[in-house]
Amino acid sequence: MAETRRNRPVSRRRLLATGAALAAGTAGLALTGCGGDDEAEGAGPVAWGYEGAGAPARWASLDPQFYNCGAGRHQSPIDLTGYAEGPGEALAFDYGGGAPEAIDYDGLFMHVRYAPGNLFIAGEVVNEVLQAHLHTPSEHLVDGDAFPVELHVVHQHPDGPGAGLWGYTVVGVLFESGEPDPVVQAFIDGVPPRGAEAAAGPAFDLAALVPADPAHYRYDGSTTTPPCVEPVDWYVLRERRTVSPEQVDRLRELHGGVNARPVQPLGDRRIVLARGR
Ligand SMILES: [Zn+2]
Repeated sequence: MAETRRNRPVSRRRLLATGAALAAGTAGLALTGCGGDDEAEGAGPVAWGYEGAGAPARWASLDPQFYNCGAGRHQSPIDLTGYAEGPGEALAFDYGGGAPEAIDYDGLFMHVRYAPGNLFIAGEVVNEVLQAHLHTPSEHLVDGDAFPVELHVVHQHPDGPGAGLWGYTVVGVLFESGEPDPVVQAFIDGVPPRGAEAAAGPAFDLAALVPADPAHYRYDGSTTTPPCVEPVDWYVLRERRTVSPEQVDRLRELHGGVNARPVQPLGDRRIVLARGR
C-alpha cells in the first residue's frame, strides 16, 4: 500500500476537489491513517509522509486533492487547551459487535479494519467503526504536553461518504509512559509484512478500549492525514492508557519514525471538556 500515498495524476473529478464531489467519488474506499484516500490510480514522484519532500508542511502542494491540508480552517490535530467544561453528549461504546477483519501495514501505519457491527453513539448520532491505527508520538497535545502514543478509532459518521460529506468520527486515546498495553501489543504482534494484509486475530478487541470514564475533549476538526478532509467529529478521551518504552520503540520502528502531524491553529473553534454522560 505504500504506492497509494503517492502523488497521483489529477482527473477532472479530482479537480472538483472538495465537498460533495469528493465524497461522492470516495464511498467505499479504504482509509489510510486518519482517513486518507487509498485509491490506487497511478503514481507520481512524491509520497506524502512525515519527513523530507513529503513532510506535513508540503502536503497541500503534493496533490490538488490535498488542498485542505493547507487551506482548511478546521484542521487536526490541535493542542487541547483553553477548553470550557460542559455536559456535552452522552457517549455509548457498543464495541462488542463485529470482529476485526484484517490488519494491513503500509510502512507508515498499521490499520486494523473491522466488519460492521461496532458502534460509537454520541448523543443521537450512531457511528460505525471502520478501522483503528496508532500514531507515535501523540498528535493531540493536552495543555501543551505530548504523549508517546495516540490511538485513533475511525468511524463512519452517518452523514459520511455517499451522503454528501466525508463525515468521519474519530475517538482518540492518549497513552502515557508506563506499563505495556495489550491492545498496542496486539498491533505489534499482528503486523504483516510491509505492503501486505493479514487476518487480524481476536486479540484486537475494541471492547478493551472502552473507558471507565467517558469524559472527553470534543471539537470539530479534520483527518490528520491527506487529504485532510473536514468535517471530522473528534472525541479525545481524557482517560489515558499506558504504553511501555519497549512498545514505543517497536512502534517507531514499524512507523519508520514519527507518524504524527504537528498541531494546527484552533481558529474560531471551541473545545469542550465534556462529561460524556
Ligand atoms: Zn490517526
